[in-house]
Amino acid sequence: MAQILDGKAIAKQIQANRAADIQNWQTQYGRPPGLAVLMVGNNPASAAYVRGKERACERLGIASLGQHLPEETSYEAIAQAILSLNQNSNVDGILVQLPLPNHLDSTALLALIDPDKDVDGLHPTNLGRLVRGEPGLRSCTPFGIMRLLEAYDISPTGKRAVVIGRSILVGKPIGLMLLAANATPTFAHSKTQNLSELTRSADILVAAIGIPNFVSKEMVKPGAVIIDVGINRIENAETGKARLIGDVDFAAVEPIASAITPVPGGVGAMTVAMLLENTISSYCDRLNITPNP
Ligand code: NAD
Repeated sequence: MAQILDGKAIAKQIQANRAADIQNWQTQYGRPPGLAVLMVGNNPASAAYVRGKERACERLGIASLGQHLPEETSYEAIAQAILSLNQNSNVDGILVQLPLPNHLDSTALLALIDPDKDVDGLHPTNLGRLVRGEPGLRSCTPFGIMRLLEAYDISPTGKRAVVIGRSILVGKPIGLMLLAANATPTFAHSKTQNLSELTRSADILVAAIGIPNFVSKEMVKPGAVIIDVGINRIENAETGKARLIGDVDFAAVEPIASAITPVPGGVGAMTVAMLLENTISSYCDRLNITPNP
């Protein structure tokens, strides 16, 4: 039986002392940390994610300074909104909720965010800092995975890691973070040959694919640590109710793994927690505060 890497519980622990810190800082410095989530249009999944982020801010006392803009908003108007958030001294973190409507160039818009307020860690400057091993804001999902491994004393040092997926959001940065933590990572993707052979060599296997139950028992080395990043919504045809499942066949893989993240309650919970941590760290940098660990 594998150890369950309980992201929800660890996220709660990380946040347990933050509310008190933020209240103290608010008294001392006259304002709480501020996060601006920019959402454009009405994508229902995005709206649910934004609501989740705003609720999490509220629980900790972080100010939500976001804007919800209509679907047809022009590139210029959004660019203007980002530039004015860059200048706003109450805003420590800016996040543009993706995906943006098709008429908008998200790469160009993300590049307008002040890198020191880029709490999603997707700005080229922050990705460059990650490649160079310099301090900077790290993208939330891979950062959350590293904090989860740390919380369970799972050291990547010397381990063979295989990452399935090579996106900017998850695959590439988690590979680089595992490398920085002294693992030996390999990236696999949709064109990889003999994928199972490769994944069976992994001491740490990260699945960031977006295909439900993709990783089968046959693809896993007994005793491996399994990180399931996938979030797939599966609707029940009869009830119409949706449930979330991961990229790993949890029921089959859990009995042979040494540790595994559940979906939901694993990596996803850590992602939101890291967004708040990044906002707090940006606030502390700006106000010259040394945050509690
Ligand atoms: P993406 O679509 O950008 O990338 C998917 C990757 O999977 C690609 O690099 C592709 O090469 C690889 N892939 C596709 N088919 C494959 C195959 N047959 N064999 C091997 N590799 C294959 O997706 P993403 O943004 O990286 O997200 C991946 C999953 O993680 C999605 O389910 C997404 O919803 C989820 N996600 C979760 C969180 C979280 O907080 N838990 C955050 C971001 C993304």
